[in-house]
Amino acid sequence: MKKVVDYIRSLFLFELLKGLSLTGRYMVTKPFTLEYPEEKAPVSPRFRGLHALRRYPNGEERCIACKLCEAVCPALAITIEAEPREDGSRRTTRYDIDLFKCIFCGFCEESCPVDSIVETRIYEYHFENRGEQIMTKAKLLDIGDKYEQQLAADRAAQAAVR
Ligand code: SF4
Ligand code: SF4
Repeated sequence: MKKVVDYIRSLFLFELLKGLSLTGRYMVTKPFTLEYPEEKAPVSPRFRGLHALRRYPNGEERCIACKLCEAVCPALAITIEAEPREDGSRRTTRYDIDLFKCIFCGFCEESCPVDSIVETRIYEYHFENRGEQIMTKAKLLDIGDKYEQQLAADRAAQAAVR
């Protein structure tokens, strides 16, 4: 009996029509896919992308060189050197993150008492030369300056749901 049913189905191209009807249905519904990079998927405020160092509104670096982030980093990706300034405040003279070691766990961000080291929403970056994977203090501060508005908004959104 099954053979007869299969024969009749194949005679009337039933499977083909079934497949075409499915294709037709998806042609008029909203697509699930995105045309990346022209279209981007929404990114959570908690996204752990490229790192940044933040400043206070008066331009002063937030980082107080406590080295908690360096101590907590499970990948040993952070290298900090510090010394006191003339005014007695302690600041880093070197703050490097090796992105080849980093596993983007977010521990550095969570351990920071002054909200200095943060992870941004940036996920589109690449390296072309040896050594470019080291995010120096200058590079991190530049990213922080450029995206401060977004970083502050994301921190506020995270605090609101805690
Ligand atoms: S995200 Fe994790 S692995 Fe990367 S630097 Fe921070 S603590 Fe280290
Ligand atoms: S970034 Fe934060 S945790 Fe790391 S040394 Fe600076 S103040 Fe301390």
